Amino acid sequence: MSTRASSRCSRIRPSLNIAPTRRSAKLSSRSSPAPTSRTRTIRPINELIWHCTATPEGREISVKEIDAWHRARGWSGIGYHKVVHLDGTVSDGRPEAQIGAHVAGRNSGTIGYVYVGGLAKDAKTPKDTRTEAQKATMMALTRAAIAKYGLKRVSGHNQYASKACPSFDVRKDPLGRLV
Ligand SMILES: [Zn+2]
Repeated sequence: MSTRASSRCSRIRPSLNIAPTRRSAKLSSRSSPAPTSRTRTIRPINELIWHCTATPEGREISVKEIDAWHRARGWSGIGYHKVVHLDGTVSDGRPEAQIGAHVAGRNSGTIGYVYVGGLAKDAKTPKDTRTEAQKATMMALTRAAIAKYGLKRVSGHNQYASKACPSFDVRKDPLGRLV
């Protein structure tokens, strides 16, 4: 028996609100240039970095679960800004106006999006498990972010750390050719 049963019902609520901003505000004031306005001014964003949840192929994961993992690491809640589920639907993570917690040393100036998956069914071997629906959504989200922020770069976590994440090479993927 797996422990996943409870993860299914809370996902895909389009406006699932996790982590109120109070705590995250602390993190952002510590690690980003002083925000001048909380409501209208977005921090400069010039790069989108893709991640995977490092969970086994075919298994869904909710924003709530990711939020709990990241809180357990002492962060102020989910470190990613968007989550792409197996069926291509998207959940919001941390607001993009707030600095993320997704790649050591490169959270400033970037946003971090994650797709659910990235490991083979053995839960160990890195694997590009993206469904066609996820691939389509990832392209659409990337295009939207380029249009919104004028991104200079789209990359993967593994370009900045000796990790497999996101279990594919963004530079060789259509995602990496959008800018
Ligand atoms: Zn990552």
